[in-house]
Amino acid sequence: MAQPIRAGVLALQGGVVEHAQMLEQLGANVILVRRESDFTGPDGPRLDALVLPGGESSTQDRLLRLFDLADPLRRLISGGLPTLGTCAGLILLARDVLDPAPGQRTLGVFDASVRRNALGAQLASCEAEFTIQAAGVFGSGAFGDVRGALIRAPEIAAVGPGARVIAVRDGRILGATSFPAGLPSDTTIPGSQLPLGPITGIAFHPEISGDPGFHRALLAQAR
Ligand code: GLN
Repeated sequence: MAQPIRAGVLALQGGVVEHAQMLEQLGANVILVRRESDFTGPDGPRLDALVLPGGESSTQDRLLRLFDLADPLRRLISGGLPTLGTCAGLILLARDVLDPAPGQRTLGVFDASVRRNALGAQLASCEAEFTIQAAGVFGSGAFGDVRGALIRAPEIAAVGPGARVIAVRDGRILGATSFPAGLPSDTTIPGSQLPLGPITGIAFHPEISGDPGFHRALLAQAR
């Protein structure tokens, strides 16, 4: 029998449990990542995929640096590890944050700039349906709908040539994916059949609404 996929969930702060449960339900072996030895060792990398959960990005950033995790995680993710970031996790991945908390930094591995709390305060939080443009999240079809919660959600203010948009709601970009080198840059890609790249960042939470599409796609990428 094939070994279960080893899926890490960064477990410093935030919505760790929902991601861990969803990944376990999909058959992954979940590793809660709190120190460098959780993802790398003398025998090489210990993860096949990684999730960065939602929470509070400035707190997560502080803890990442306090525990000397920022540089090794940056190396791991930019080395091609399939990675999914939701909400605060998207902010951690981004190239830059337009409105950082004082001193807040990011891993800078994902070619997008983000704006925190762009969708308003707690009262603007809701559950919504998103049309995703990416083959692989929903089998081979390029488009599909996923449900996700928006909780003090960021938006993606702009994507650079290394990423493309996969989710838009009310004119705001709420999801993007990095894509393999060599493909033309195109931020709308009507009718695209392009799959997810190794890093996907979404401003919403499919793990809260129980929609497993993104987690399934992440594990499929890890095979
Ligand atoms: N507003 C939070 C931040 O800036 C993100 C909210 C979330 O992860 N649900 O980090």
